[in-house]
Amino acid sequence: MYGHSPKLLAPPLAWGSKGIPVPYITPWSGERISVRTLTVRRDGTGLCYSDETPADRDAHGVLWSRLDEAPGRGTPNFRSVHPLRQRRALLEKLCQVCAGPASRTDRGWLFLFRRPTPVVEAWDWPEGVHCMKPPVCLGCAAIALRHCPHLTRTVAVRSRKPRPRGVFGDFYSPDATGSLVARSDGCIPYGHRDRPWFLASQLVVELRRCTVVDLDAELAR
Ligand SMILES: [Zn+2]
Repeated sequence: MYGHSPKLLAPPLAWGSKGIPVPYITPWSGERISVRTLTVRRDGTGLCYSDETPADRDAHGVLWSRLDEAPGRGTPNFRSVHPLRQRRALLEKLCQVCAGPASRTDRGWLFLFRRPTPVVEAWDWPEGVHCMKPPVCLGCAAIALRHCPHLTRTVAVRSRKPRPRGVFGDFYSPDATGSLVARSDGCIPYGHRDRPWFLASQLVVELRRCTVVDLDAELAR
């Protein structure tokens, strides 16, 4: 369960006097996180919300962070990611910037990465790479390459088979007084034994059947 289908926001919302485009997956300050009702299950076996609904867990039974959906309210936080919109974009193959359909060819959906340093680059990179950034459409890929200096080492990868493999989030456990405390963050694969004490905030997919592609050549076509 991951809620209703997206409203298409193309072109992306803009912010500030310069009209900076705000990606679909970026959270806004007016979108409030709600952990007030996070508590321990009555049988003591894990986390739950006291007012939990089926929409609070994914198809694997993992509990997810709650964040309002009010894109455009307040100021955007470009360093963070909205849990529901990130998951929706990855599952439905939506562009992470404009929420339109991500680019897809016979080589698969388009993902942008920073090129890993030779030290960490496995011989078969990016086959099997784990990824939390949703795909993009060609139009938004072109804009990103033009405007984002940190993308100079960008490599474009197409994956025919992106598969959900787990979640990123926080482990919680009760302290001496019984209050829940976030202990550490990290990724867990689906089926992990500590899953009942985990609050997810991003989906992790594994990219299979990958091809590194020449984005400039694709854009020129
Ligand atoms: Zn787009």
